[in-house]
This record gives sequence, C-alpha cells and structure tokens, in this order.
Amino acid sequence: MAKIIIVGGSLGGLLVGNLLRSKGHEVDILEKVPGSLDGRGAGIVPHPILIKALEMCGITIDHDLGVPVQRRVTLDQQGNTIADLELPQIFTSWGRLYHLLKENFPEKNYHSGKNVVSFGENSQEVMVHCDDGTSYNGELLIASDGLRSVIRAILAPQIKPVYTGYVAWRGVCEEAALSKYMKDTLFPYFSFGLPEGEQMLGYPVAGNNNDLSIGHRKYNFVWYRQAPEDTVLKDLLTDADGVFHPQGISPIQVNWKHIAAVRQAAKNNLAPQFAEVLEKTGMVFFQPIYDVYSEKVAFNRVALMGDASFVARPHVGMGVSKAAEDALSIVNNIELHGATPKALEQYQKERLIPCQRVIARAQYLGKFMTAQGQEELKNNHIGIAHRVMEETAVDISDIIMSDDLIPEEL
Ligand SMILES: Cc1cc2nc3c(=O)[nH]c(=O)nc-3n(C[C@H](O)[C@H](O)[C@H](O)COP(=O)(O)OP(=O)(O)OC[C@H]3O[C@@H](n4cnc5c(N)ncnc54)[C@H](O)[C@@H]3O)c2cc1C
Repeated sequence: MAKIIIVGGSLGGLLVGNLLRSKGHEVDILEKVPGSLDGRGAGIVPHPILIKALEMCGITIDHDLGVPVQRRVTLDQQGNTIADLELPQIFTSWGRLYHLLKENFPEKNYHSGKNVVSFGENSQEVMVHCDDGTSYNGELLIASDGLRSVIRAILAPQIKPVYTGYVAWRGVCEEAALSKYMKDTLFPYFSFGLPEGEQMLGYPVAGNNNDLSIGHRKYNFVWYRQAPEDTVLKDLLTDADGVFHPQGISPIQVNWKHIAAVRQAAKNNLAPQFAEVLEKTGMVFFQPIYDVYSEKVAFNRVALMGDASFVARPHVGMGVSKAAEDALSIVNNIELHGATPKALEQYQKERLIPCQRVIARAQYLGKFMTAQGQEELKNNHIGIAHRVMEETAVDISDIIMSDDLIPEEL
C-alpha cells in the first residue's frame, strides 16, 4: 500500500483522502488553516457522482442529507412568479459534507495549521515542506489547495485565476426570521430573479446541526452582480479601515457601507422576498468569481485536483461534484497502476477534457450576465427565465461527454 500526501483539507482533499484510505493507503492531509473549517461554505447541490463518492468512502447517506425541493420559480421585481419548473433536487450544505468527511478521516492523519510552501521530488517520492519547518514525504502528492494553489503556482505559474467581471454576494438567513409571505412564496423553491445585468438565486438549506425541521432551516442566496476590476471590485476588496485585500477579503472584513449599499440595491432591483432575505441576513459577504483553466494536471508524482486544477463559475453548481470525480479518477488509477507517475498521467487523460468542458459550460451560463445575454433577456424574458432555470446547477455529466455543450444561440 502507498503513502500519499494531500495538500488542502477542504472538501476536495477530504474526498480524495477518504477514498484513498478506503483502499488501504496511508494518507496525510496538510491544511494551512488551524482548527475547523466550519462556517466556510453555504449551499451545495449534490450531484449523483458526489453521492457515489461519499458511499465509496464508507459514508452512509440517509434521508437527512439536505432539504428536498420540488420546483424552481422565477420572480419579477414585484415578487410575482413569472415562470416555474418542476425539478426535484436535494440541497445540502457545505458544513454537512465537511462534517461527514472530516469525521470519517482519522484525526491523527489530518494536520491543521500546516502551511505548505514548497516541495522536492526524486525518482521514488515527494517531500513537502511547511512554513513551520516540518516536512512530510509520500510516493505521490495530491494538491487540493484551491483557487490560489501554491503547488500549481510552483508547477504551472502561467495558470492564474482570471476574473470574470462579476462577484457573487452571498449569505444564509434564518428561516424563523422571515415573514409568512416570504416563506409561502419563495422559501420552498429554488428561486431566481433576473434584474438587468444581474442574477439572483436562492434555496433552502439545513439549519444549525443539520436541523431540517420546519422553522429551523436557513435560506441560502447567491446574487451575481457586475463589478469591474479596477473600480468597483477594488473598492469592494477594501475594508472599512482603508486596507486593500487583493487576494480576497474575508466575510467579516467586508466594509459595512458596501453591505448597506447592497441591501439598498436589493430593495431597488429585486423581488421584495429577496430584499427581505438580504435585510434579515446577519453576515452578507461576497466572492469575486474567477475562471481557472489548466492544460495539464499531472506533473510526474504530483497531481492537481478540485479548485486547484479548474474553477468553473458557480452557475454549473459543480465544484464539489467535480472534486469528487477528480478524486474517484485518481484513486481508480492508483488501483490500476500503483502510486506511480503513470497513474497520474492516466488521471490527466481521463479528466482534462471533461473539466475543460465544464469551464466552457459555466462560461456559457455566465453569458446571461453579459450585454449579449441582456439583449436576449430583454427580447425574451420568460424564455430566458425558463432556460436559466433548466440549465443552472443541474447534472451535466451527459452534456459534458457530448459535443453539443453550448447551444447555438448565445
Ligand atoms: C459563490 C460560489 C458558490 C458555489 N456553489 C457551489 C455549489 O452549489 N455546488 C458545488 O458543488 N460547488 C459550489 N461552489 C464551489 C465549491 O465551493 C468548490 O469548488 C469546492 O469546495 C472545491 O473545493 P477544493 O477542496 O478543491 O478547494 P477549497 O475548498 O478552496 O480548499 C482548498 C483548501 O486548501 C487549503 N490550502 C490552501 N493553500 C494551502 C497551503 N499552502 N498549505 C496547506 N493548505 C492550503 C485551504 O485553506 C483550503 O482549506 C461554489 C463556489 C462559489 C465561489
């Protein structure tokens, strides 16, 4: 059995770590954040491949994975439903998946507070070095260290996150804080709003401690808004004390004036139900949306996976499922070829084109935010509303395997 090092102990790292352990390998996960990563993510749409990966990790998925939702609706600015679609799905939360995976992985092999800064390699193994002077070695190194991967920056410095021109304002609101009107007309659905140049969506997720009971759940929203890089984004990334955070600002540092402004914009631009959600959400924050596109994900004894290899805009709702698929492919190829460069080469062969296609699909969905998409929306609001509902965060495994990835128009 092999000894394998994973850099990054978030969902991607935990998925591949658990899968490797289920096959008997010795695995160490190095995570730079000290303590729990709890509270980091919000809602997640679990596609079938993610459920399969969890089951293969030995994690039993019972009826309480998340909140079942039967329908999607689009609301106009007055709060009326202008389009709807039957599409049953379950919405789980980032925290739920994190706990399932973390509790399934041995504590002694999960090393928190380990910030990896470099690595070295010979013909037999890889040696990983942390900024506290400690080192770990293994036959393979799997880099699941996210959007700004240090390992990717060493191996392929030319690959950089490319800003898309818009951000996602996000937050999670307590169900109990919402009005009956909101709970009747918005809460039970995967809901959309399409104001000019923007896209709002929201859905119910579990409450604290995975509480799925009525009155104790939460409502998760994602509001895509234009933010040109040199002006609006720069301002958004500057905190209330005037400090600029070019690599990303943490939720608690977002300037209160920006939060007040976005709540006001919600009242002006969105259905009143969505405006209520923003007003009642304690922590409103934003994430700039990036594309990361790779031409290579295997480098001898090192592989990139999850957000370290590709980041697709969240319209596809695929981030965690993609990480699961990467993990399954890595583990399967190690079973077939041992912990060798050949296994990682085969992983690259399997995953490169599907991942590149997920990026293309996500860029296509992002086009509804562009001038061209807006023109379409003006001419055919209801038609586009239906299309957005049909295409956002759905299982696209069949589409990815075909050449008809991008519809003709748009
Ligand atoms: C607005 C938005 C909405 C989203 N919605 C969805 C959705 O509905 N469904 C879905 O599936 N996905 C969604 N995603 C994407 C999803 O969150 C990620 O794709 C997924 O979590 C993949 O995670 P990862 O483990 O690869 O990377 P990350 O979660 O970024 O984890 C990387 C880890 O590596 C650690 N790390 C970084 N550098 C080092 C270092 N030098 N040493 C040690 N550790 C290090 C970090 O601390 C972090 O814990 C969304 C993303 C955004 C921005």
